[in-house]
Amino acid sequence: MSKQYTPTIGIEIHVQLATKSKMFCACDNNSRNAEPNTNVCPVCMAFPGSLPVVNKGAVELAIKLGYGLNAQIAKITSFDRKNYFYPDSPKGYQITQMREPIVGKGYVEILVDNEFKKIGIHHAHLEEDAGKSTHPTGKDYSLVDFNRAGTPLVEIVSEPDMHSAVEAKRYLQEVYAIATTLGVSDGDMEHGNFKFDLNVSVSDNEELGTRTELKNLNSFRNAERALNYEIARQIEILEQGEKVVQETRGWNDAKGKTVPQRSKEEANDYRYFPEPDIPPLNLDEEFITNVQAEAKKEVLPITVRQELLSLGLNSDEQDILVGQAKTRTIFYDAKNTLNNSQLERKIVNWLVGDYQAWKSENSESESKLSGQHLAELIMLIEDGSISSKTAKEIFANVIAGQKPAEIIQAKGLTQMSDDTELEAIIVDIIAKNPQAVADYKSGNEKAAGFFVGQVMAATKGQANPGKANALVLKLLQEQ
Ligand SMILES: [Zn+2]
Repeated sequence: MSKQYTPTIGIEIHVQLATKSKMFCACDNNSRNAEPNTNVCPVCMAFPGSLPVVNKGAVELAIKLGYGLNAQIAKITSFDRKNYFYPDSPKGYQITQMREPIVGKGYVEILVDNEFKKIGIHHAHLEEDAGKSTHPTGKDYSLVDFNRAGTPLVEIVSEPDMHSAVEAKRYLQEVYAIATTLGVSDGDMEHGNFKFDLNVSVSDNEELGTRTELKNLNSFRNAERALNYEIARQIEILEQGEKVVQETRGWNDAKGKTVPQRSKEEANDYRYFPEPDIPPLNLDEEFITNVQAEAKKEVLPITVRQELLSLGLNSDEQDILVGQAKTRTIFYDAKNTLNNSQLERKIVNWLVGDYQAWKSENSESESKLSGQHLAELIMLIEDGSISSKTAKEIFANVIAGQKPAEIIQAKGLTQMSDDTELEAIIVDIIAKNPQAVADYKSGNEKAAGFFVGQVMAATKGQANPGKANALVLKLLQEQ
């Protein structure tokens, strides 16, 4: 490559909101197990004379998300019609926000190579989803299910602040963690709760290059792969002295490449205009403050990352605690129970090590691991009651919900720390090994190690090694 190219990436994320009902009607927002076209009403089917009413719960979740995106909330926010004809849109338009979005400028901090970087948020707006078309193979018809029509979404539009596929992936993961931590979305990616469009261009100078849009991705890994492919493809075109065509492209996972979908010439003119059936919303200060106060009760992913970074965790370890809500709760509960910064790294080691290993072979729903029990397990090792080997052996029982102290009691696993009991054993070993005692007395200090080994063997590993060592030395001196 003769020139240095810089990629520039901007992202639009569609987050499905975890409300009870749809965006503008009382239909259930969960159609997971519903028969097609049963979860509909005159409003979401756009029957003449029906009027949409804004879902207060959706507004609250948008405000919470705005808090997570460090963004201003608009006091006056309004809706617009985006006109287009498509079979899965019963209205012939989508209600969205074009002029006065609810969430204004903000930013998200991502961690790349152990350094924080701010990615600007241009705005985020409320809108409704369309229905779903399916095209049965070999048939000369298509099917439309309107259950999804009217589902509340927030679209988050970033600034073009990302300059590599890794940065884009980190941004997506961070926004996902924010949305799920705040309870804004269920975040079920397989069911399209979190989808995104990636805008990418490359340039070898100050001006931005011609961009392409990669539509409808729903996996972090594929986003990174698609961007790496697209960046390389565009550079190759420019290197050959040709021009990148502005177009929409899709990601073909099986082939591992992006493929053209439609070019700019065919792009729609949506003829936006203000939604006449919904008056602008005037959000009062107190309402916004109260919703934000609710959001503030949650520990945001960035706070977790900063703490984990100070504990020396790498990105993969951080992702586990940031991405797994239950694991993160266990971490904080254990941390608060122990209340000892020296032991925090130990909590993390259990959670990113043994606990992940257990999770890879079991379903997390079976886990009854609590932060309190994990803290207790760590304390039992710290005070010498059990060895770390024993702790690992009983960890599955702890995950099953048993109290560590009760497990070691029931299994008789307590490390032997009782001085009189240990002394008796050592005295016995000394009496049986006069030659080793003589060796030690003649200056061979290594002989003491022999006695400690004998003690561990006699107690089947249950003696506290430090204590055994001290007692052996004390008793040998007395010979
Ligand atoms: Zn409805």
